[in-house]
Order: sequence, then structure tokens, then C-alpha cells
Amino acid sequence: MCHVETSAIHSGYTAADHVHAAVPPIYLSAAFHMESANRGDALSAGTQDGFSYSRVANPTVDVLERRIAALEGGRSAVAVASGMAAVSFALLCAAEGGGRIIAPKTLYGASVDAMASFFPQFGVHTDFVDDINDLAEVEALIGPDTRAIFAESVANPSTEVTDVAALAELAHRHGVPLIVDNTVPTPYLFQPIRWGADVVVHSTTKGINGHGNTLGGVIVDAGNFDWGSPRFPQFTQPELVVSDDRAGAWHSFASRFGADAYIRRVRIKYVRTFGAVESPVNAYLQLLGLETLAVRVREQTRSAQAIARHLRTLPHVRRVNYSGLALDGAPDCGAQAQLVRRLFARGVGSVLSFELDGGREQVSRVLDGVRVFSYVPNIGDARSLIVDPARITHREVPAEFREAAGVSDNLIRLSVGLEHVDDLIADLDAAIADAYA
Ligand SMILES: *Cc1c(COP(=O)(O)O)cnc(C)c1O
Repeated sequence: MCHVETSAIHSGYTAADHVHAAVPPIYLSAAFHMESANRGDALSAGTQDGFSYSRVANPTVDVLERRIAALEGGRSAVAVASGMAAVSFALLCAAEGGGRIIAPKTLYGASVDAMASFFPQFGVHTDFVDDINDLAEVEALIGPDTRAIFAESVANPSTEVTDVAALAELAHRHGVPLIVDNTVPTPYLFQPIRWGADVVVHSTTKGINGHGNTLGGVIVDAGNFDWGSPRFPQFTQPELVVSDDRAGAWHSFASRFGADAYIRRVRIKYVRTFGAVESPVNAYLQLLGLETLAVRVREQTRSAQAIARHLRTLPHVRRVNYSGLALDGAPDCGAQAQLVRRLFARGVGSVLSFELDGGREQVSRVLDGVRVFSYVPNIGDARSLIVDPARITHREVPAEFREAAGVSDNLIRLSVGLEHVDDLIADLDAAIADAYA
């Protein structure tokens, strides 16, 4: 299926396989009948696909996985219980056993915290760069232990975009995969695999679900990267879980699964062991949310663009961060503007941020003054949301990383929803004017 609008409603589901139910049903069953000794043996050995236990795979979750894989142009996917489970499993599966990751300082707060101070406890270290689009800076850090380059396609809250095409080319030249967190734009606006990325992760809590009612995450594998190279011993060592020791037949993930080695390893080692499985009920709600992905994101991006444009004209607004303004046709020849026009022709999404004159006092008055925007630490919801990143979303992020991400104490982040754009603009106008009255 070629268009996102169609894929978001139909991909990954065949009604005839589910008693012809029009909507993918919720399979609330922990385990499944294996039917015969032979089939049970094959299911457990992984030589036959099917369902036996919901910590490994579940039919409702399976539809979500297939649908998002199709939307991202990937080969296969694994859904997990949250975006952070997706980020953690994707990175650790690539870098476990003493590997290093290269990433920008502008990542999502919890990702920074994990990579800077928690993953090192497991022997996985990150080399942070100031500018992920500075290819010379990135290339200088690639060494024998580098196992992945990780970036967000659109950074939050700065909305700076990553040159996925150039980074993928650089990574591949050194035998390293590129992993992209594509949460902010969603696959409606941007598909990293089409530009060369090897793995895509999402917090499906955000724009993919779009209604702020469940948590979820997904890891999508393009299926193109060679994990069988000596750089990734975890993929070439024999593992009992994919072998048959009674028959003396030993396999590694690479020898056993080829192009599916990475996604199989995420599922069989990480999801099966750490158990952050997506619930079938949450998968159902996310499939429902996904059906309207294109219309929601299109409308929200249009409103975000209008709000960014409007904020720039307001007194007391010192600066507006919205890289999508490059699509307005203003004569901006900066590197970011050119990248946005080349890679993000449909826009960069519903998140933007702005800096106010003054300080904490004015920020608090705007947060307390809005009536249509909700003071909520989330993005991608049908409701419009407002937050002060320095105090909330980036609280656990070290000052050096906050500064690199442009998170000053007078910064406000918006996630633009589906309310009428005139009501949203009037709400901001009134709250900002009152903050200085
Ligand atoms: C929210 C978010 C995450 C984490 O997702 P959860 O579902 O909250 O665990 C990761 N990356 C980005 C870019 C996010 O916005």
C-alpha cells in the first residue's frame, strides 16, 4: 500500500483471519492453544510463526506492529509498553556488551538521562555531540566500539531537524547503523527509512495514537543492515534460545534469522526478558487513533504553522522555535531551512516553542492564564497542550544539555491540537497580554 492515509486504516490486518471482524479485535488472552505436539515444538523453536504466549507476541499487538512497519516502510516491528522501552531496547540491543553510541545533546529528556547516567551502569556509553548535523564532528567520534548513531528526526522543543540522509550515508560508510526516534513528526510527515535509516523508534503515546489515552512504543526495522559483522558479537554468538541443543544444532541470531536478526533479537531477548509488552487494549486504542493519523497531523501542523507565524508578531515574544516556518517561502537559505524544504516538505509537526521576555514570573502567568491550552507534559494529543520544559520535561537533564537543547527558564512549549486555530491564538494572546499587565 503506497499512501499513508490508506495504510493507516488497512495495513497489517486481514479480516478473514479474525472471524471477519471489521475492526481488529482485542485478544485478551495470556496464552494460546498450541494444538499439537509438533506445532508446539515448532512455535517454541521459532521455526513456525504463531502465538503461544502474550509476552512474546499477541494477535492485537501484531496488527499494530505490522501497520506501523508498513507506515514507516520497514520490514518488521515490535511494539512495547512505552516510548522509553522502545528507545532503551533499540539502543541496548545494538550496543550491549561494551558498545558506544553517538547522539546529540538535544534528545528527549529521559533518553538523555538514560544514556548519560544509566546505560553506563550496563557498560553502554554515549559520545554526545553538540550538532548531529556536523558530519565532521560525528565522524571523528566513530571508533571500533561505536555500535550506533542515534538521533531524533525533529528535536523537541527546538524543532531542529536532522539530516537523516547524510547521517545514514556516513554511518553506513563505517559499518554502523542509524537509529532514528521519529516520534515528533510521525510517519505521516517523515519516514526515516526512506532516507536511509536502519531502525526507527516511536513513542506511540504521542502523535501515532493522538488522543493522549495510552502509553506505547514501537521499534521498526528496515531489514537492510548487516548485523552479522564482527562489530556486533551479540548477533553472531550461538544462543540456546534460537538453537536445538539436543540435536546439536547451534545458531546465532544472524545465522538463524538473516535480515530479521535485529527485530527477532529485540523481541526474543529484550521484550521476552524485560517484559515491557504492549497490552492488547492499548494496541487496540492505538490502532483506532492511527486511523485518523493523516487528517489529524495535517490539520495540527497547519495550525502550528499559523500559531508560530502569529507568535513572531507579538510583543514580549523574544524568539519562536519552529523550523517549519522555512516552508512559508521566506528567503531563508540557512542549512536548517534547506533541510526542512528537502526532507520535510509536508511540515515538521505540531510541536513548537517560544521564549518570553522576563522570567519565571511571566512564564507562570501564561501557564496559569490559558483556558483552551491544558498544562500537560505530553505532545501529539488532539487537545492543545502547554508546558514549561525547564521545570517539567527537562528537569532531570543536566544544565549543559538543557542549554544545547535551547531550554531556557523563559521557554514555553506548545503541542498544537485540533481545536479551532482562532481560539488557540486568542487564548495565547490573552494569556500573554495578561502576563505583562
Ligand atoms: C515521549 C517521548 C519518548 C518517550 O515515550 P514514552 O511513551 O513517554 O515512554 C521518547 N522520545 C520522544 C521524542 C518522546 O517525545
